[in-house]
Amino acid sequence: MLSVAEFYAESHFRDPFGATEGRPNPHRGLDVAGWLTGTIVPAWTGGTVVTSQYDSALGYVVVVDSPFGFAGVSHLDVLGAPVGAFIPVGGAWGALGDTGRLSEGPHAHLTLAPSSRFPWTGPVIDPTPHIRAARESSSLAGGSTTPITQKGISMAEAVMVAPTDTVVHMYPGVKSHFTSREDYEAYKASIDTMRAAGSTDAMALPPLHDVTKVSWATYKQLCRHFGVAE
Ligand SMILES: [Zn+2]
Repeated sequence: MLSVAEFYAESHFRDPFGATEGRPNPHRGLDVAGWLTGTIVPAWTGGTVVTSQYDSALGYVVVVDSPFGFAGVSHLDVLGAPVGAFIPVGGAWGALGDTGRLSEGPHAHLTLAPSSRFPWTGPVIDPTPHIRAARESSSLAGGSTTPITQKGISMAEAVMVAPTDTVVHMYPGVKSHFTSREDYEAYKASIDTMRAAGSTDAMALPPLHDVTKVSWATYKQLCRHFGVAE
């Protein structure tokens, strides 16, 4: 996972806040691009997640209540942060993507709204100075190594609907496929039983309807991360 200093490098800043070229309205955020779909977007500010949802225009959106206002990221491929979770600086907001009608290629659209949650009915302000400051302080600190957690996926373990439509569970060096709902549910029940008996070896598996379908790009990144064959 990239650090805040790496992900938000100046060379990855694209359309600035307020840009008007080729747009009906001034750009209401800062775009960070030049990363592959599936790249984990690290939080530039700490904050509690208040929104984690799909929007037809902005795709998968995560918004956190931060010291600077409501900080958001749009067009994610995978939501990485459930409502109510506190995500520290450098923790995961999700996987960068190209979702939503307004997206024209893989990028992260970063917003800052002083007073309104999503949808941003109130004013939005330029997040760029705060993001630059976060980048400078995190590079001084050597970046963050905070482990990520997201719905069904952490850097230690992942369960997802693969692009081939089978449910896949991965942890380092191991990949299991579940071809039916019953298969997965039986496995989940066995994990739940172990956890109820006090084992913390495995994360609680999400119910099947909460398991995210991932893109090929994300799937391949996860296979690489866990060291398993595609
Ligand atoms: Zn944008």
